[in-house]
Amino acid sequence: MPELPEIRNLAAQMCVELNGRRVSGVEIRHDKCLNLGAEEFKSLVLGKTFGDVLSRGKWIFARLEPGLHFLLSLGMGGDVLFSPKPEAMPDKYRLRLDFEDGSLLTIGFWWFGYAHVVTDRGLAEHKMTADLGPDPLNDPTFTRDWFNDRLSEKKGNIKAILMDQRFIAGIGNVYIQDILFRAGLHPDRRAAFIPREQRDRLYTAIRENLERATSLGGLAYERDLYGRPGRFKDFLVGYREGAACPECGATIQKIRTGSTSSFICPRCQA
Ligand SMILES: [Zn+2]
Repeated sequence: MPELPEIRNLAAQMCVELNGRRVSGVEIRHDKCLNLGAEEFKSLVLGKTFGDVLSRGKWIFARLEPGLHFLLSLGMGGDVLFSPKPEAMPDKYRLRLDFEDGSLLTIGFWWFGYAHVVTDRGLAEHKMTADLGPDPLNDPTFTRDWFNDRLSEKKGNIKAILMDQRFIAGIGNVYIQDILFRAGLHPDRRAAFIPREQRDRLYTAIRENLERATSLGGLAYERDLYGRPGRFKDFLVGYREGAACPECGATIQKIRTGSTSSFICPRCQA
């Protein structure tokens, strides 16, 4: 499942390839991912020109000039692929945008996903994105003090809180594993009782882990806009059940935490 690093890279690549490209064709194979009827979606998008593309957490925000925003979420995963010519495009997709120069963008979802189009005014009312918390790499709101203060007010366990997209946008069940390990925190730890020193470590781990994975192009089993896999695969404890903890040598365990699985070092994370 793509998280902040994969989505951030995808948005940056989309910005390079799509900026200035005018939509000359729209094909919708499945309209469930849309927020409008297929015909309305088509008539809005046709003839529009892509502007800047940014990300916030797991959502991609593309400007469609004049006056629109194209919002994309890959849900549990998907393929967003840019093809310079139709002969190079994939067979499977749910949505396809053709551009005037013959290049095209195809979007497929492994399970579910969202491709929404909203107006400038509609963006503020778009519930799924309007409620997102700050992006820990993009948003100046996400400071050490903000993070520390907000954690004090939180009820519940730290893992669920960090994965709540309304608190911080972009962390899912993949990157959370090593982030908690680096802070020495058990996933079930009550957030409000975590001492300041550990919150500092947690803040640093969030920024550094997401930045590092982004610089490596994201996860090795996710693909970018050109179909290339990422290069991040060296987890500390994530997905390393039965292996030795890189800090203390204890055996890494896979445990159930709420509705998700967690990988922890039973000695380093309390
Ligand atoms: Zn350990």
